[in-house]
This record gives sequence, structure tokens and C-alpha cells, in this order.
Amino acid sequence: MLNRVRNMSIQWYPGHMVKTKRQIIDSLKLIDVVIELFDARIPDSSKNPDIDELIGNKQRVVLLNKCEMADENITKEWIKRYKDMGISALDVDSITGRNINRVYTLVKESVKEHFEKRVEKGIVGRPVRALVLGIPNVGKSTFINKISSKSSAKTGDKPGVTRSKQWIKVNKDFELLDTPGILWPKFDDEKVALHLAFIRAIKDEILDPEELAVKLIEELVSLKPEALKDRYKIDLNTDAFEVLKNIGRKRGCIVSGGEVNTVRAANLLLDDFRSGRLGRLSLEKPQI
Ligand code: GDP
Repeated sequence: MLNRVRNMSIQWYPGHMVKTKRQIIDSLKLIDVVIELFDARIPDSSKNPDIDELIGNKQRVVLLNKCEMADENITKEWIKRYKDMGISALDVDSITGRNINRVYTLVKESVKEHFEKRVEKGIVGRPVRALVLGIPNVGKSTFINKISSKSSAKTGDKPGVTRSKQWIKVNKDFELLDTPGILWPKFDDEKVALHLAFIRAIKDEILDPEELAVKLIEELVSLKPEALKDRYKIDLNTDAFEVLKNIGRKRGCIVSGGEVNTVRAANLLLDDFRSGRLGRLSLEKPQI
């Protein structure tokens, strides 16, 4: 399975990535601050390894998106970790809107010094401009729509800046570039690829659901076994494939002859995990 993921990334990585990196570098010239979106359940795996180098010393704000699916205490640990690194971070949920109204304050704080210097030089009256960056499916578009309340009109081309870039007005002092920067995660690491697959950041069609479900069971058994026990009322003292079969039995994934349809059971489990029915789960903790 992981070879398939790796091959896929190798197939489109070079051309595609070079182009999007160039676009991001161009966009960085137009903005004051980068809003970097991570998935709160897997902040490490949803981080692009080249991003630090790309951003350089541009100000940044980290948002741990989809926070209402992640473990609250672990998310707090992540936020502290970022703060210790001197990076402002906030847990947000772009569907429910949690903390979305706090993003502007964070952004404003992050560029305060830079803007004060501009004022000293006599440059005034320009909104803070930001670029939203993140891997596919982390929620960039949903976030942009939420923070700009969808209805807000694009502000149109800025003469003298570029003809193709459009800005989305969040408020009179804050604008977002309308095209978020898409970066790819680090596919070649097995744990990263699996975590991305669990949260469906990698398309399902290229993956074997049974294999994926077995890996998820193994991880949940060591991370938070009660998530599986509470949902399916099953015994976990057996190997992961047997656990999958038991889930199938409990949930009526049976084919004629009484056999368990393990593909159906796998899809059911993955679906339960992805839609939060196994409870709030964080798969990654900050390394101390
Ligand atoms: P993009 O590829 O980064 O632009 O991601 P999208 O905005 O298209 O979101 C990918 C999927 O994640 C969609 O199904 C969204 O509805 C979902 N999504 C985005 N943000 C959140 C969030 O904060 N919470 C939850 N539960 N789902 C979200």
C-alpha cells in the first residue's frame, strides 16, 4: 500500500511541485503573514517539510484546524509547543467556526512590529495581507470561506501589484489572497502516509481499505483502546485482523454463509473514525 502511495507521489511530484512552489514564492512577495493550516489530529504529518525554508523569516500564524475532532488536551500541548518556538498558534474549526473570530487578533499581533516600522517610514493605510498555506484537504478553502463569511466580495485586482491576484476582504484591515498555497506532505515516510490516509488526505481509491483499517486498529489499540471498545463493545486481546472481523460481526457486515465481509467492515471503521464517531482522537503528540 505504501509503495502505491509513494509511487503516486513520485509520479506527479517533480513538475507539479516545482510549479506550486514557484507560485508560493511569488505570492510571498505580496503578503505580510503566512497562515499555516495543519490538521489538529496530525500536526506533524500534515506539515510540509519544505515550508520553513520557503517561508524564510516571513511572519507566520499556525492554525490547528478541525480541532473539534482532535483531543483537546493534546491540542493544548501542540499550541504550547508552537508558542515555545515563538510561533502564535490557535485551535480552530472551520466548520463549526470555533475560534475563527480570534484569527485576526493573532494575525494583527504577529505583524505589529513590521507595521509599526512601516508607519515610522510614513507608509500607512494598508490592510494586513495573508496567504493561507497547507496540504490538500486540510481545510484551506473551508477556512477562507468561513473567515470571510462567504458573502464578502473579492476586492478585485490591485493596480500595480499583479493583475491575476485577487484579494478576499475579511475586514477593512485584513485581506487574504484568494488562492491558497497547496503544499504536499512528506509521503515517503510510512507513518506520515498512513496518518494522511486515515484522515482521508489521500484518496481512498489507491489504498486497500482492509490493510488501512488493520493499521488503524493497531494504532488505536496502543493509543486509546477505549475508543474501539466503547463504540463496538469488542474484545481487543486478539490480532488486528480478528478485531476487524469482530467489528464486522457486531455491525452485520456478513455475506451469505456467515463470513464477515472485511472490506465493508474496514470501510465502516474508517468512516466512523473520519466522522468523529470514535470520539475526539489525536494521532500525534508533540515530541518533547
Ligand atoms: P483544502 O483542500 O485544504 O481547501 O480543504 P477543503 O476546504 O476542501 O476541506 C477538505 C474537507 O475537510 C472538506 O470535506 C471540508 O468540509 C472538511 N473540513 C474543512 N475544515 C474542517 C473543520 O474545521 N472541521 C471539520 N470537521 N471538517 C473540515
